[in-house]
Amino acid sequence: MSSYPARVSVDLSAIRGNVERLREYAGPAQVMVVVKADAYGHGLIPVSRAARDAGASWLGVAQLSEALALRNAGDTGRLLAWLYAPGAPLAECISADIDLSVPAPWALGEVRAAAAEAGRPARIHLKLDTGMGRSGQFLPEWTLMLQEAVAAQTEGLVEVVGVWSHLARADEVDHDSVRAQFEVFAEGIRLAEAAGAHLEVRHLANSAATLTEPAVHYDLVRPGLASYGLSPLPGVEPSRLGLRPAMRLEAELTVVKDAPAGQGVSYGHTYTTRSDTQLAVVPLGYGDGIPRHASNVAEVQLGGHRYRIAGRVCMDQLVLDIGEAQAAAGDRVILFGPGDDGEPTAQDWAEAVGTINYEIVTRVGARVPREYLG
Ligand SMILES: *Cc1c(COP(=O)(O)O)cnc(C)c1O
Repeated sequence: MSSYPARVSVDLSAIRGNVERLREYAGPAQVMVVVKADAYGHGLIPVSRAARDAGASWLGVAQLSEALALRNAGDTGRLLAWLYAPGAPLAECISADIDLSVPAPWALGEVRAAAAEAGRPARIHLKLDTGMGRSGQFLPEWTLMLQEAVAAQTEGLVEVVGVWSHLARADEVDHDSVRAQFEVFAEGIRLAEAAGAHLEVRHLANSAATLTEPAVHYDLVRPGLASYGLSPLPGVEPSRLGLRPAMRLEAELTVVKDAPAGQGVSYGHTYTTRSDTQLAVVPLGYGDGIPRHASNVAEVQLGGHRYRIAGRVCMDQLVLDIGEAQAAAGDRVILFGPGDDGEPTAQDWAEAVGTINYEIVTRVGARVPREYLG
C-alpha cells in the first residue's frame, strides 16, 4: 500500500470490455486505441496491455517518447506517433518499428534523412487537413507533399502506408462539417492512390465517429475517450453505448473536526458554515489535478452521501462541510467513479466546472498513485 492518502484506481476489465465493444462498433475496420497523455491519465503501459489483450491491433500516441516507452515495455504491435518538432529522434523510432505521421513537408525531409540513417524505410501516414484546421496539409499543399512522399518511396526511404485526418465536430451528430470533411478525405485518398501510394490504412474516425458514423470508419478507427468508458456524445450516458468508466479517484480523510456556525472555510473564506457542523479534510488539491474551478461547485461522495466542496480547492487539500455525518480520519471519499453507487462521475465534474470529461481524467496528476484492478 502506498503512503499517498489518495489514488486513481483503474479497472482494466472495464478497459478490455470497452475495447471489445468498440471492435463491434468498428465492424470490419481495425481499432487503434489512443493512449496519448498517459492513456488519458489511466496509465500508459497497463492500459496498453489491456487494449492489446482485447484485440486492439493498433495503438496511437501523440509523443515519440510515449511510443518509445511502449516499445521499451515490450509492445511489438502496430504503433503510430504523430507529434514532433524538428530535430526529434526519428531514426530511433524508425528502428523501433514505430509508424510516423507526416504532417508537413519539413517532417517528410527529416523522416527521409532518418530512414537513411536507420538503414530501413520509415512507415509513414500522411496527414491531410480535411477541415479540422490543426495538423496536416490542406488539399492544395497536399498534392505537393504527396509527390515528395512518393519520390521518397521510390528511393526506398519511406513506405506510404497510411493517409489520415481528424474530425472537428464528430460529437455533434449529423453535423454538416463531418460530411464536408469526409468528402475532402475521399479526394485526398484518390489523389494519393493516383500518385502511386498503396495504402494499408485510411483513418479518420475518433470515438464519436466510431460510435455514430460508420461511413467514416474506413480501414481503421481511432477511439481514445470511449476506450476509457466515457461518452463523447453530449447527453448520452456511457452505459447506453455499452461502455463503462474505468477510472475512480478516491482519498482518505485526514482530519474530521467540529466547527461552529459562521466559520469561514479555506482561502478567502468563500464558504461559511451555516450551523454548528463538522469539517472534513480531503488530501487532494490542484497540485493533484483537481480543478480549482471545482471550489464550491463539484461534489464528492462520503459514506453513501454526496457533499459539495466547501470553499476553495487548495494545492494539496480540499474541505467538506459534513454536518452531523458519522465520519473519521481514514474514511474513504470518492471524488468520481463509474457512478454505480451514486458517486459523481467524471462527466458530473466536467459539467460542474465547465469543461469536458476528457480533461477531468487526463489532468489527474502523476503524483497520485495508480492502482490496477481486474
Ligand atoms: C486524441 C485523438 C484521437 C482520439 O480522440 P477521442 O475523441 O478521444 O476518441 C484520435 N485521433 C487523433 C489525431 C487524436 O489526437
